[in-house]
Amino acid sequence: MPQLRQNIITGEWVVIAPERSKRPSDFISAEVVKPESEVNDPFSLDGVPYRKERHKEYDTKHIYVIPNKYPVFLEDPSSCSPRTYRLESNFYAARPSTGGHDVVIVKEADDSIYTFSIEQWYELFSVSKRRFKYWRKDCNAEHTMLIYNHGPKAGASIAHPHAQIFAANIIPNQIVREMNGAEQYFNNNGKNVFEDLIFHEKKEKDRIIAENDEFIAFTFYAARFPFEVWVLPKEPSAHFEDTPETFIHSLGQIMKDVMSRYARVLKQPALNFFLHDLPDSVEASEFFRWHIEITPRLGTYGGYELGSGVVVDVMSPENAAEFLRG
Ligand SMILES: [Zn+2]
Repeated sequence: MPQLRQNIITGEWVVIAPERSKRPSDFISAEVVKPESEVNDPFSLDGVPYRKERHKEYDTKHIYVIPNKYPVFLEDPSSCSPRTYRLESNFYAARPSTGGHDVVIVKEADDSIYTFSIEQWYELFSVSKRRFKYWRKDCNAEHTMLIYNHGPKAGASIAHPHAQIFAANIIPNQIVREMNGAEQYFNNNGKNVFEDLIFHEKKEKDRIIAENDEFIAFTFYAARFPFEVWVLPKEPSAHFEDTPETFIHSLGQIMKDVMSRYARVLKQPALNFFLHDLPDSVEASEFFRWHIEITPRLGTYGGYELGSGVVVDVMSPENAAEFLRG
C-alpha cells in the first residue's frame, strides 16, 4: 500500500508508492550520460574565452574557478544593494539579483563524478569552502549554495565536469523551510533535528549505505526521488566553510563511496547534488547542521507533483538502500 511520509525537517509530505517489484534495472535509461569529449569545450584549460577571467588564487592541481558567463546573481563590488524591494508598477515586488555565481571546474575533461579520485573530490570541496568564505564577506551575498549537475537530464548543459556556487542576496525558499522546521523541532523537543536524524538512522540501520569517522550517508525516509541519499556530518557543524580540512578529506571519501554505489547499481545515472548551509549572516545555530542531498534523476515530475508540491516516489528508500549497500 502506498504510504504518506513526512519530511521531519520541513514538514512536507511525499507519497512512497513502490511499483511492483521495481528493480534498479527498470530505472536505467538507454541514454548514456558519461561525458563525451566536446569539440568546443568551453571549460578546457586551453579555452581562450575563459582563461583570462580565471580566479588564479583558487587554482589547485585539479580545480580552477571562473565567474559564470551568464550569472544568475551578478557580482557588484561597487555597492551593497538594498535588501528592501521596490514595487514595480505599484504592485509586484522586485529587486536586483546580486551576489555572485562561480563555476568550479575539474581540470580533467574526461572525468566525471563517477571517476573522480578522493583527491579530486577533496580539492573540489576544499576550493568551494574557500569560495564560501569569500562570499560570506560579500555584502550582496546572503546565502551561498554549492550545486552539481551531472548529465543533460540533471540540467548539465556542458559535459566538462564542473560544480557551481550560487551566492544569492536572498535566503532560498528551501533553506527557509528547513530553518523554520529545524527551529520548530528544537522548540518542541529541545534537540537538534539533524542529530536526532542520525541517531535514529543508526538505530534503525535499514537506510544507511555508507559511513566513516566524520560522515554518514543514508537514503532519505521521505525521499522525493528514487535512490535519494543524504550525507551529514556526524558532529555539530552549522557552516560548511568552518569545517576542518581533515573533515573535507573524509567528505571526499564518502562522496566517492556513494558515487561508486550509484555507478554499480544504476550505471552512472544523471544526478544533482546540493549543499545546504546556513545563511551567511547567521553565525551559529543550535538547531541547524549543513548537509548534502543527492538526487538521481531517474524520472520526471508529472502534473500532480507540480500542482500539489507532493511528490510520488516509486522506489522505497529501504529497498533503495539495500540495493546501494550491495
Ligand atoms: Zn537540506
